[in-house]
Amino acid sequence: MDRPRFVIDSDEAEQMAKQSGQTVLQLLPSFVKSAQSLARPPISNFHVGAVGLGSCGQIFFGVNLEFPGLPLNHSVHAEQFLITNLSLNAEPRLKYLAVSAAPCGHCRQFLQELRGAPDVKLHITSSDDEKENKTNNNYNDKDQEFTPLSHFLPHRFGPDDLLEKDVPLLLEPHRNGLSFCSDLCNGKINGEDDLKYAALDAANASHAPYSRCPSGVALVDVEGKIYKGSYMESAAYNPSLPPAQAAIVAYVASGGGGGYERIVGAVLVEKADAVIKQEHTARLLLQCISPKCEFKVFHCKKTC
Ligand SMILES: [Zn+2]
Repeated sequence: MDRPRFVIDSDEAEQMAKQSGQTVLQLLPSFVKSAQSLARPPISNFHVGAVGLGSCGQIFFGVNLEFPGLPLNHSVHAEQFLITNLSLNAEPRLKYLAVSAAPCGHCRQFLQELRGAPDVKLHITSSDDEKENKTNNNYNDKDQEFTPLSHFLPHRFGPDDLLEKDVPLLLEPHRNGLSFCSDLCNGKINGEDDLKYAALDAANASHAPYSRCPSGVALVDVEGKIYKGSYMESAAYNPSLPPAQAAIVAYVASGGGGGYERIVGAVLVEKADAVIKQEHTARLLLQCISPKCEFKVFHCKKTC
């Protein structure tokens, strides 16, 4: 069986477009159904797929994740998965987005963290299905238009309201200047422990300009493969994506489609004096989805 793919590189996308006689942009909505099939929503059974086109012509998939046994706010929405996927692949810009259903308010707000958010163009494929189902329709490619995000969220509240202009936004390079504070760690730092340093890397790339409490999680699976996720904050707080969820996105996006019980180890890195802490919710999530997963926390401090 083929491994599920969450990224299509630009050359392949171009080739697929050429074969179908369309542009990559025209082709974008046709990937949404494939994305939906990769969703993991055991609670709602509502499969959401989001497909994004980055500035370099790569295509990225996002899907929704739900976790039985936990409060609903642990869920990951497809648009958040997509943005995390862009971040994992160092893609600095989302230009176009095709999504299976109209984005919820939570996601419209989360997307505000992107540079130029009002100009990100959206296409909702469920509207295409409705049009196709109507009798005597004149459905054609013209209907596959993209609408700016500003149409879906007028009177926006976002980083422009709270941050200085030179503060990096989501998907832009972050250098948080964090390093381990050995005296405060609940274990000895081993220079060869890749998992700890992967979690520190993730914390250093974290977008947390509102709380100034960046954090990162690294997971390791039964095969020893490491997945890392950075905490991503929203100006409106609640839509923020915790680092454990971001790391699970990395696991789903590149882990070959296995179950969460294959995750056997996890490390969280956050500041010792953090005003907001990820430790308790990260432990809760990991214990629930992979009870045998060993979870450790290491503290860091800003050194530069
Ligand atoms: Zn949503």
